[in-house]
Amino acid sequence: MESCYSALEKTLVMMAPVLERIGMDRLEKPVAFIEKNIKGVLFDCQMCGQCALGKTGMSCPMNCPKTIRNGPCGGVREDGFCEVKPDMRCVWVEGWSGAQKMRDSGEFHVVQFAVDYRLKGSSSWLREVRRIRTEKQTNVQSEEAPS
Ligand code: SF4
Repeated sequence: MESCYSALEKTLVMMAPVLERIGMDRLEKPVAFIEKNIKGVLFDCQMCGQCALGKTGMSCPMNCPKTIRNGPCGGVREDGFCEVKPDMRCVWVEGWSGAQKMRDSGEFHVVQFAVDYRLKGSSSWLREVRRIRTEKQTNVQSEEAPS
């Protein structure tokens, strides 16, 4: 799952010049629609707009009834189930298992920012493409700058 996800991310970043030519704003709605459907099936995605799957063992933290972004809370049951929804495995227990199978499980320990609810419903994919592009451009500019 992690490999598929990072392959998709790389493809989107490679396509970034084309996406920028079309216009990221124009693409927002259709991409968010596709993202919602794909990630909805795979991860029960709630479209928070700030995807953390790569840092949460591919377990969506927005499915935690408390939407805890840096979990688990103190209420996780001994059998790994949720205190609020006793028939549901804690998303953070699932995340921990998932992180053990990931190439960089260290990301699991990175503290996440609180969710910005203004971004709900927007595409995390496009946001990530923009972030990576900006980062690359900044690196190129700093390499080209006279020392
Ligand atoms: S972290 Fe946000 S974008 Fe990622 S799967 Fe969960 S709700 Fe969807």
